[in-house]
Amino acid sequence: MSRLRALGLDEARRDEIDGFLASEQAEGEGGERTVGRVGRVDRGEVVVLCEHDDLRALSDSQRAQSAVAPVTGDWVVVRDDEEVGLIVDHVFDRRTTITRRDPAEQITDQVLVANIDRVAVVHGLDQPVNDARIERFLVLAIDSGADPLIVLNKTDLVTRSIDDQWLTSIAPVVHTSTATGDGLAELKARILPGETTVFLGPSGVGKSSLVNALADTEVAPTTEVREGDRRGRHTTTVRELIELPGGRIVIDTPGIRAIGLWAADIALDEVFADIAERATNCRFRDCTHRTEPGCSVRDAVEQGTIDETRLARYQLLWQELAEQAIELERRKYQPRPQRRNRRRR
Ligand code: GDP
Ligand code: ZN
Repeated sequence: MSRLRALGLDEARRDEIDGFLASEQAEGEGGERTVGRVGRVDRGEVVVLCEHDDLRALSDSQRAQSAVAPVTGDWVVVRDDEEVGLIVDHVFDRRTTITRRDPAEQITDQVLVANIDRVAVVHGLDQPVNDARIERFLVLAIDSGADPLIVLNKTDLVTRSIDDQWLTSIAPVVHTSTATGDGLAELKARILPGETTVFLGPSGVGKSSLVNALADTEVAPTTEVREGDRRGRHTTTVRELIELPGGRIVIDTPGIRAIGLWAADIALDEVFADIAERATNCRFRDCTHRTEPGCSVRDAVEQGTIDETRLARYQLLWQELAEQAIELERRKYQPRPQRRNRRRR
């Protein structure tokens, strides 16, 4: 298999790339062009994994034709510019993105990774199931446009029975143990060759162990990038995109650990579909399900069909998104064009 195929290149992307390279746009400026996938971004430079090489290139989006700053997972064109050397010349359309609220600049969004096919939300069963945290990660996963998966790891440490049945209505659930091998075959079957997966979850739940198990060898947490051999950029660096045997790809970015939601209203209503569906019957379209008359959601809570604590968790996340929207409005922020995120299947 070619390396680009192993990096997740499919037919549609191939056509898109060929089209671009053949276009006048590509003939615009001089310099040899190489296509690859971003394995890491590091202070204005990117490591691009190409067919024959790992290249270190400038990510300077001002100088290049593309206004988009590349992120890990992007498909890009690297051009060998006479003056500046290797530079990212073009970022291809992103099929999916994990987008968070910028932790410093609370009121802008920040794309963390692009072109992921599956987001696996991992929980360690040595701890009680943290509903709020799993729901938050699931909102993020679904908002990315990728397919969500829930991994309940460390089944070997479960001492009492746990209620995880409700999770299956949101996403497929796999129970695993990297200690006993329990469920690993099922996990492998759920993550298809050619797919790019991100594992989300707090430290210690077993994300690295799961990646190593998928690889049948030690690859996580990080893989060394070969030294570059062009234009004197010989820095060795740690890569975030991990190529597993069999054409599976995992992206592990430190930034992905602590995440604020960004404009994820639709995904929120998918994770809380039971509540969102009832809410369509509320008398007021903007009902907050607290004290309004004719609130169908509160009726459901009274009747016991919606769990009160789950409603509270929904309201908390909803509040977070609503406050952002109000703040955005206040600052007269010009939103970016609609992202292209779409569920693929
Ligand atoms: P990460 O921080 O999410 O990447 O978690 P790690 O993969 O580093 O795992 C954290 C700890 O949990 C390590 O000591 C692992 O050996 C242990 N661990 C991971 N998966 C399992 C499991 O299925 N069962 C048990 N008993 N321990 C596990
Ligand atoms: Zn209501």
